[in-house]
Order: sequence, then structure tokens, then C-alpha cells
Amino acid sequence: MPGTPNSFAPTIKSGRLAGKRACVTGGSRGIGLAIAERFRREGANVVTCGRGDRPEALSQDIGWIKADLRRPEGILGFRDDVMALIGAPDILVNNAGIRIEKTVVTSSYDDWDAVVGLNAKSVFACCRAILPALVGRGGGAILNIGSIAGLQAEPSMALYNASKAFVHGLTRSIAVDHGRDGIRCNAVCPGWIATGMTDAPFIRTQDRDAAWAQARARPPVGRFGTPENVAAAALWLASDEAAFVSGQMLIVDGGLTAASPARPDLF
Ligand code: NDP
Repeated sequence: MPGTPNSFAPTIKSGRLAGKRACVTGGSRGIGLAIAERFRREGANVVTCGRGDRPEALSQDIGWIKADLRRPEGILGFRDDVMALIGAPDILVNNAGIRIEKTVVTSSYDDWDAVVGLNAKSVFACCRAILPALVGRGGGAILNIGSIAGLQAEPSMALYNASKAFVHGLTRSIAVDHGRDGIRCNAVCPGWIATGMTDAPFIRTQDRDAAWAQARARPPVGRFGTPENVAAAALWLASDEAAFVSGQMLIVDGGLTAASPARPDLF
């Protein structure tokens, strides 16, 4: 079954998203979990999803949907379960993503299906399936999780980089095409955020701690970001405080991409 909603009763709360209904993809861990939890604390009724069973870390008053968003029935099941759990949403956050570290030559068509199928196609498909419900609510906010990798190419991440550039382009198109429907669409572009996704390449290095220390020193703020740092930016963009902000890519990278590549020793 693509969608298996648990028993979940939305409640009325106060906060910067009081009265809002939000659906967040990929909330089983990492950035998606932080966004779902921050939105919950700010008063939204929140549902999120992932491929597995409900994660223990997820607050009980966040609805959980089991869905594989690479599958068409997963998208439709997610949409139907969102409607069943919280009704038509005000906020859609497209966060679920994966990365595969390969060049164009070493990438297979299966890699294409995996990376582009989730990072690009499922973002398009979720917007296509859920945007009309936001319009039916009188308007709303779509927030896509892009990446600095969509702005600057990270080595050996060809499909991932390209998928994030797609997300940025789609974000602008939705903002332009659906602004008059009351839809704002923006992207957050995180830099290096300390999650399982970021740790994966370090695990393969000979000296993981040394590699982490070297990488951590690169952003001008002297550390990696946290999922909560990204959630704070997501909160602002999703809230009514950003009512005149649409079609934007908000970089959240501790200044990493502001640094001149000519002087890597500066940081
Ligand atoms: P994680 O790997 O920690 O989490 C990814 C989330 O996506 C999980 O909840 C996972 O759930 C979900 N997911 C994966 N595949 C599917 C699928 N087929 N269907 C539904 N859900 C799925 O990643 P991060 O939190 O680090 O990344 C979140 C987003 O932020 C991604 O889009 C990523 O590209 C982006 N980003 C991350 C950066 C970083 O430094 N971490 C930097 C820039 C952007 P499950 O596996 O349980 O199905």
C-alpha cells in the first residue's frame, strides 16, 4: 500500500504557523525531520512521509505517511493521505532527496532513475498533485529544498548537481506561473549540513575525523550547518512574514559560496 496513515488528530495551536497545514516530504530524519518538528512547534498541523515505518524520533502529533515518492502511486497515495489527515494543505515542502557520487561517465541509467526520479521528478509530481489543493485553500507556499550543488558543481556528483539545478528552475517557473493563484514558491539551498547524507562520503575516507575537521573549517562560520539551521530558513519562507518573497533561492551555507575560490587558505 503506498499510503498507510496512522491515527492522527490535528490540534489547534499558536505560533508563527498557527492555523496552517503543512506537508513535508522525507521527514524520517535529517533536514525533513527538523522542518516538520519546527513547523509543529510553530503551530502548524504537520504530516510527513518516508519509505519506512513511523520513525521513533517523530513527535506523536505529526502525522506519518508511508510512501515511496519515486513511484507514481506513492505520489498519489501521499496526496490522498495528506488530504485525509489534515485536509488541503497551506504549505508543501519538497525535501526528500538522495545523492549518488558519480560522474556522467560512471553513472548508469539506474542511477538516473534513482537520483532524477526522486530529486527532480518527484518534486515536479508532488507540486503537480498538491498545488491545486493549495489554490483551493486560497493560496499557499511551496518550498523546495535545492542545494548549493545546483549553483556550483560538486565533484563527482553529476546527476545530483543537475537534479538540484532542475529544482531551482522549477521553483522559478511555479512562482511565475502560479503567483496569481496565490502561490508563492521558493527554494532553500543548503550548504554542508550535518546529516547522514553528508556523513556518507566521509565514512569512506581513510581518516574520517581528519576529513571532517578539514571540511568543517571551510565555511567562514567555521562549522557545518545543522538541520535546525535549514528549518529556521524554511520557517520564514513558508510563513506569512515572507508574503512578498517568491521565486527565490535562499542560500543557507554559513558563507561557503561567498568565499573566493582564489584563496581557499583564507578559511
Ligand atoms: P537524509 O538522507 O538525512 O534524509 C533524506 C530523507 O528523504 C529521508 O527522510 C528519507 O526517508 C527520504 N527519502 C529518500 N528516498 C525517498 C523516497 N523514495 N520516497 C520518500 N522519501 C524518501 O538527507 P538530508 O536530510 O541531508 O537531505 C534532505 C534534503 O536536503 C535533500 O533533498 C538533500 O538533497 C538536501 N540537501 C542536503 C544537504 C546536506 O548537506 N545534508 C545539502 C544540500 C541539500 P526514508 O529513507 O526513510 O525513505
